[in-house]
Amino acid sequence: MRGAAFVNGTIGPLDTAAIPILDHGFMYGEGVYEVLRTYDGEPFLYDPHIARLRRSAAAIHLDLPFDDAALRSWVDRTSEAAGLEGDTYIRILTTRGIGDLSYDVRATPAPSIVIVVKPQPPPDPRLRNDGIAIALVPILRNHPGSVNPMIKSNNLLNNALAMQEAHRRGAEEALMCNYRGELSECSQSNIFLIRGGMALTPRSTAGLLEGITRAFLFQVGQDVGVKVEEATLTPADLDTADEVFITSTTREISPVVRIDDRVIGSGRPGEVTLRLWEAYHRRALEMTSLAGTARKLGRD
Ligand code: PMP
Repeated sequence: MRGAAFVNGTIGPLDTAAIPILDHGFMYGEGVYEVLRTYDGEPFLYDPHIARLRRSAAAIHLDLPFDDAALRSWVDRTSEAAGLEGDTYIRILTTRGIGDLSYDVRATPAPSIVIVVKPQPPPDPRLRNDGIAIALVPILRNHPGSVNPMIKSNNLLNNALAMQEAHRRGAEEALMCNYRGELSECSQSNIFLIRGGMALTPRSTAGLLEGITRAFLFQVGQDVGVKVEEATLTPADLDTADEVFITSTTREISPVVRIDDRVIGSGRPGEVTLRLWEAYHRRALEMTSLAGTARKLGRD
């Protein structure tokens, strides 16, 4: 696999990078992470991702003993070492660290930090042109009083089990309800419904990860005059949706044309979704090109 990894200060090839088995990220799934991508080589929405990493770490009482400048220099050095042409996928993980087998945080004096940089191929044009089928799966999204979905946790069993069920049903993403029977989110993305020209997405209080792309969609909607609002949504709302799409860093905006046996709208990507898709890409490229210019000027 092409790419590079930073593991606790050492940068090397991705496919041989290793972490000790006594790392509590491996032993207990105790850690948090972020996934970013670049456009034109420039990390997109970098600061909000790092802010969310710090919020997730605080939520599991994990102190991160490095500042934003140090983290950015590790990300940049790992990206340079990867030496990839084209856009990259950047995963930043931090765990409770290496130590004896105990939940006592004193067993692990320092958190581990891992950065993975690998290629991010351009999205398959099929996603935008034909849309995808997703499945509403019976597995519930974690109760916010348990492992709060707001925490971007390395413990991804809930997500993986949901996605396995979607795969068994021939679908490309798993939509989950919360314990109240309301729509929450998908295994790796947030969900939006279009009704009467408006984009509606489950409220944060439904128990979901507040996607960085989801937040960006509120701005993108303003660019093209589409109101984007949070709402309490249930599976019945899927029957009356004109259009549906999912959002995430790597899937950007992907139109959904079928949910199990429900055909959404005309069965083709909808007009409002495609307007948002165009506006998303316009704004993303503008922002990364501005950030790239500012960084170059800063270096000169
Ligand atoms: N929900 C879940 C459970 C996810 O794993 C992801 C992907 N990180 C998202 C939503 C979308 O988040 P983002 O837009 O920040 O990639």
